[in-house]
Amino acid sequence: MSDLMSQRPTRIVVDLDVLGGNLRAIRAHVGVPVMAIVKANAYGHGLVPVAHHLQAQGVEQLGVAFVEEGMALRRAGITVPILVLGGILGRQVAQLIQHDLEITVSSLDKLRKVEAAAERLGRKAVIHLKIDTGMERIGVHSYSCAPMIEAAVASQWCEIKGVYSHLACADDPASKMTAQQLERFLDACAHFERIGAPMPIRHLANSGGVLHYPETWLDMVRPGIMLYGVLPDPAAHRTVDVKPALSLISQVVYFKTVPAGHPVGYGATWAPERDTHIVTVPIGYGDGYPRALSNCGEVLIRGRRRPIVGRLCMDQFMVDLGPDGSAYVEDDVVLIGTQDGETISVEDVARRAGTIGYEILTRLNERVPREYRSR
Ligand SMILES: *Cc1c(COP(=O)(O)O)cnc(C)c1O
Repeated sequence: MSDLMSQRPTRIVVDLDVLGGNLRAIRAHVGVPVMAIVKANAYGHGLVPVAHHLQAQGVEQLGVAFVEEGMALRRAGITVPILVLGGILGRQVAQLIQHDLEITVSSLDKLRKVEAAAERLGRKAVIHLKIDTGMERIGVHSYSCAPMIEAAVASQWCEIKGVYSHLACADDPASKMTAQQLERFLDACAHFERIGAPMPIRHLANSGGVLHYPETWLDMVRPGIMLYGVLPDPAAHRTVDVKPALSLISQVVYFKTVPAGHPVGYGATWAPERDTHIVTVPIGYGDGYPRALSNCGEVLIRGRRRPIVGRLCMDQFMVDLGPDGSAYVEDDVVLIGTQDGETISVEDVARRAGTIGYEILTRLNERVPREYRSR
């Protein structure tokens, strides 16, 4: 990838020191071990470089969504424990065990599949039992989890390392749902005590839980988006001092004067009222920058916020500098990040595009080269 793209003026810059600082801030806040969530290419920040840095910072555990993400980390030499959070199919179990990946067991049937594969390989599987406490995604309902827990405890081929659930509404500091989910989860965990089995690591808190609900921290937390310095929701409170680690930067590739009334871009959706200066920026929706920013996004050029005009194309878009605005070809254009004291955050971009920060970050694709900075 890099040879082809190395001259590309558009790039993602990830500040690894900021990422490490965020991990430390979260740790200091919660006082329990952290499972850093690095699914979806580490929320667009780059799976392997981010995992290497977190491992070097002593992170206790990593979490990914899919088997393939876990395998990529193992191939890259990551040795810390990795939990695959997603639901699994029978055919994936052998791969999970062979790559030393911890498995989410979300039903009695899946437990049986894991046991069978472990026995065939002659190697114990490390599992986390998944309890559904209100998300209705994967996991055994808390009110009917006893048989799965008992079977897992009795299993010769499974080592129960964790038990967990996922919060549906913790982004909202005022949600009533979180307390109810916590109660259901603790009730499910109590079953280990009832049958005299050792308590596994109990983990429940995503970023929302870490930010707003201390009682959900339990034995480990699973922050994703806040690790990257982005809040999970506009209503969330920044109770932990995390900072954005990612910038998205391009350069002016073309400058022109457009006469009054001459429309700009596909569909001719916008035209200047008087002669104006327009620059073209070489990044588009083919890179994962949202087309929804057509006629409503903003970028920073020479420290000023400037509007995206016309429809955003696959590979480029146009920006209006106004009749008096100037810029030169090769001037930096900041799409996410800070320039001369002005900032455009992931949250700003998400709001303008009508989506959430998660989607803005994870859509930034492999076409955009990533650069890593640290002192
Ligand atoms: C994605 C995910 C997380 C992290 O969520 P954030 O909101 O990004 O903190 C934690 N746990 C599970 C099970 C997840 O799927």
